Amino acid sequence: MNLFEPLSLGFTTLKNRFVMGSMHTGLEDHLGDLPELTRYFVERAQGGVALIITGGYSPNLLGRLTPLGGSFSSTRTMRAHRPLTEAVHAAGAKICLQLLHAGRYAYHPVAVAPSRIKSPISPFTPFQLPGFLVKKTIRDFAQAALLAKKAGYDGIEIMGSEGYLIHEFLSERTNKRSDEWGGSFEKRSRFAIEIVKQIRARVGKEFILIFRLSVLDLVTGGASPDETYLLAKNLENAGVTILNSGIGWHEARIPTIGSMVPRAAFTEITGRLKRQVTIPVIATNRINDPAIAEAILTKHQADLISMARPFLADPHFVNKTKRRAFNEINPCIACNQACLDHIFEQKKASCLVNPQAAAEEKWAVRKTARSAKVAVVGAGPAGLNAAVILLRRGHQVELFEKASSLGGQFRMAAIIPGKTEYQGSINHLESEVRRLGGIIHFNRSIDSAQELKTFDHAVISTGVKPRIPSIPGIDFPNVFSYDRFLLEKRKPKGSVVIIGAGGIGVDLATYLLHQGRDLETDPQAFFNHWGINPALRSGLNPDFKVEKPEIKITLLMRSKGHMGRGLGKTTGWIHRLELKRSGVKFFNNLKYDQITEKGVIVEFASGETKLIESDEVIICAGQESQNALVPLCEAANIPVSLIGGARIAGELDAKRAILDAWEAAFSIESIKR
Ligand code: NAP
Ligand code: SF4
Repeated sequence: MNLFEPLSLGFTTLKNRFVMGSMHTGLEDHLGDLPELTRYFVERAQGGVALIITGGYSPNLLGRLTPLGGSFSSTRTMRAHRPLTEAVHAAGAKICLQLLHAGRYAYHPVAVAPSRIKSPISPFTPFQLPGFLVKKTIRDFAQAALLAKKAGYDGIEIMGSEGYLIHEFLSERTNKRSDEWGGSFEKRSRFAIEIVKQIRARVGKEFILIFRLSVLDLVTGGASPDETYLLAKNLENAGVTILNSGIGWHEARIPTIGSMVPRAAFTEITGRLKRQVTIPVIATNRINDPAIAEAILTKHQADLISMARPFLADPHFVNKTKRRAFNEINPCIACNQACLDHIFEQKKASCLVNPQAAAEEKWAVRKTARSAKVAVVGAGPAGLNAAVILLRRGHQVELFEKASSLGGQFRMAAIIPGKTEYQGSINHLESEVRRLGGIIHFNRSIDSAQELKTFDHAVISTGVKPRIPSIPGIDFPNVFSYDRFLLEKRKPKGSVVIIGAGGIGVDLATYLLHQGRDLETDPQAFFNHWGINPALRSGLNPDFKVEKPEIKITLLMRSKGHMGRGLGKTTGWIHRLELKRSGVKFFNNLKYDQITEKGVIVEFASGETKLIESDEVIICAGQESQNALVPLCEAANIPVSLIGGARIAGELDAKRAILDAWEAAFSIESIKR
């Protein structure tokens, strides 16, 4: 495989083509968290990756992402990082420190930028950097790079994309200066080029210098392809060792890493950059599969493959790929729920499908002293994860599933366009249960404790059933519960009302909108859908018009607030934008009077009554727990762990369900009755 060919950088060699891309975990911000951060990186280094890039560290205090965010500007910090770099090296990987000056994205009141222009996603208007501070910031970058070298890092990555400070200097969108740092493209590039030159002068030749360059801005006022190529060549001449590809500003209203983005959608654009320079280029974004990664190298679109989230999901991705044990890879489903959403909520990052990420010690899976015989009833994400962890701990597991296939709510999610990654997670978990010796019973409903009497312990993960509200007319044949509608893969009629506008109501609306479209595997269809044209300035088609669907969809909710309440910060906006621009109607703050053959009659808070016409009505009104087995087991003296939606249906979510599963699997020892 090309993925395992070493890559010579002249003064040093990367042992394979895998790069663990920069991903902030929140452990960067306090020196006290360095031991945990070290364990996190060492686990990935042991997993075979050639090069790790840390989360972003600011070169000075003004550039910190948050008021107490991580910076790399003192000898104390430098010394504190030495054990980390030594441990990563001992585990067989190289490591670069990312230098990120947040610029106007800084989440504090003393944010600075080339010009005093507020970002649409930040509450703070930045101060304009005066000329002397521009020069000081360049020196701070160079000093931070030198400190990184002294700390034992093999190199640094300069964050020059995604709309952070360097990118802000590069772009006429945010740089309105008329001094030597603004105006022409050459002057706007000067900040980036000076940073590279001064760093190279301080650290010498034998130090990896990666520059993360935006290959596609996806906001108005961004760069043209020619400007990007010119910058790339100038960066190469200034001393950059490797170019990484950044896609989109954070404020861009086009998805770039969500699960609805086709895998490797942007690597063709990286390939165009690669043809302009002689230094190695890294491909990024929505690469979570070895075959896709290999294809990028085969097509000469890049020299190295960066993955960030997939290394949270599975630290041993590389070694498993090398052994061709592809089914053993725990795939990242691109949900963002426990990684990026946590970071934006200023919480420590982890991973929905792998709670052990960035908590390696807390969730270290250790063998049990005495093996128990455990029945796991229900094979949704909670049951499947419990079964796998119990098996890894050395317990004997039998899994009972009343349906003919596994996956529970994940199986339903996988039907939604843009969420087919969920099926990969189910496939992996099923394969792990079998590989580890678990027994799976399909089409097996457990209705009495008698059926479990030979087990030492029962894990009840029987999930949820849709809540069916008592609205007059709910029994009409034109009314469907969401699970029936999805599992039967029904095609919608002309107009649909969805009762309930939470996560599943929004998913259902997406399912209805995207009938007959393949936006998930066809990058060109995805580009057309979002108005992307990489050949144009900013990568945006100025004549783009949203294609309006023929189907009419209306979402209803009783309470106030917006649709998709509870969706994650980094993905919720995409779903809401998609629905809004496609003409999906939304009404809230109302009561349901009646469902008729013509639609749903609602009464608004104002007292006005209205018939919302529809051919079909789909109920997405939340869920209720299914846990009737628990009292039966307790009465039969069978120890029970109740997990997932069966424990709490309210705001049922997979992150909590999987955490429940790990907790239960860790707590079960051989409790003999
Ligand atoms: P949900 O987000 O809690 O939404 C339930 C909806 O049903 C609400 O709009 C609620 O609004 C309505 N509802 C509740 N009781 C009702 C009743 N008795 N009569 C009529 N309407 C009622 O639940 P969900 O949509 O089933 O989603 C379940 C969980 O999965 C949520 O935590 C959700 O965030 C998560 N999820 C996440 C994603 C994702 O992409 N991250 C996707 C799907 C689901 P009113 O009470 O105001 O009417
Ligand atoms: Fe991937 Fe979701 Fe895990 Fe983030 S939380 S690494 S997106 S699976």
